[in-house]
Amino acid sequence: MNNLDVIKKHDESVVNSYARFQLAEERGKNATCYDFDGKKYIDFTSGIGVNSLGFCDEGWIKAIESQLHRIQHISNLFYTLPSTEAAESLVKLSGLKKVFFANSGAESNEGAIKAARKYSFDKYGGGRNKIITLVNSFHGRTITTLAATGQDVFHNYFFPFTEGFEHAKANDIGDLKSKLDGSVCAVMIELIQGEGGVLPLDKAYIREIAEICKENDILLIADEVQTGVGRTGSLFAYQQFGVLPDIVTSAKGLAGGLPFGAVIFGEKTEDVFKPGDHGSTFGGNPISAAAAAYVLSRMTPEFLDEVKKKGEYMTGRLLKMPQVKGVAGMGLMLGAELCGLSSADVVRAAFRHGVMILTAKQKLRFLPPLTITYAEIDEGLHALETTLSEMQEV
Ligand SMILES: *Cc1c(COP(=O)(O)O)cnc(C)c1O
Repeated sequence: MNNLDVIKKHDESVVNSYARFQLAEERGKNATCYDFDGKKYIDFTSGIGVNSLGFCDEGWIKAIESQLHRIQHISNLFYTLPSTEAAESLVKLSGLKKVFFANSGAESNEGAIKAARKYSFDKYGGGRNKIITLVNSFHGRTITTLAATGQDVFHNYFFPFTEGFEHAKANDIGDLKSKLDGSVCAVMIELIQGEGGVLPLDKAYIREIAEICKENDILLIADEVQTGVGRTGSLFAYQQFGVLPDIVTSAKGLAGGLPFGAVIFGEKTEDVFKPGDHGSTFGGNPISAAAAAYVLSRMTPEFLDEVKKKGEYMTGRLLKMPQVKGVAGMGLMLGAELCGLSSADVVRAAFRHGVMILTAKQKLRFLPPLTITYAEIDEGLHALETTLSEMQEV
């Protein structure tokens, strides 16, 4: 089968809900992969921040394989060791207290939203249930997480959306304060807005939110679905902002390529969920959990330092490209602003030169595997340079 065979067959029976590129990847190793025509690519996407250890990491495969020969699933009516180990690592590395496992980012955010509302209901009774999120945020595709998402393009067709969300302007503490009217139970933020265009929030702003939240017993929820699990050079991004949220959500890179999500609770919220309050059939699945425990075991200080260094190296090289106006982000979550070029056009042209890149609004977005080698970075950036130089000539 070649690329076109796969694409044609796929489109015959799969819903057309994604604007897919005409490209079918067949296999890969670390940040290098090959499509069904045998063409090679450097992967700066990691499956949108999911393959944190790249394609087919040996240790990751072993961890999954050994669990596959024991138990693949048993339900949350029973205990399993992999979820125990994944939770233990998350608690230890996050400085928080307890974990609830889900299967995706949206589901983790749903869990966080439910917990925040219950925390407030238990303590203050009904009516204190509003959650402030930020303009330009992204929190998921369920009806509730779409309501939480602060972008109007997502608020169509599917009415009625879940009530009780209000969107404050990012980096504008006055706007946030004006929305705190006594009915607010939580503020939910991304530390770096990912889908919104790789926009890191101001540290002072985040610290001020954390203080206001603490004073008013409003919960601070950090959506670290994209920024978490080493992506920014620390296990979670909040660790570089000098705050400790009450609830943190994680998914994307957590299990290195298997579906997995986590809601991590701090001191205030660790006991909010009682038996029957929340659940998930697949949550904490032993295979995904074994993968997550392995991914977390790799997140040593040395590993995270390397993520920072590779990010700085990539930033430096990108800034040298004449078509790049600026680079924002942290670690290996980078957004490059272009001079007068469409990011979608660049990404499409870059495939021809053998490099896979994402967009975030008008920016090129880079979320390579955290294990990407310098040789792979060089090869991918060289392909991008060639792409950009050709586009200027047009
Ligand atoms: C991707 C993403 C989500 C949604 O995750 P899914 O696994 O697609 O449900 C939520 N929040 C942020 C910040 C994300 O980047």
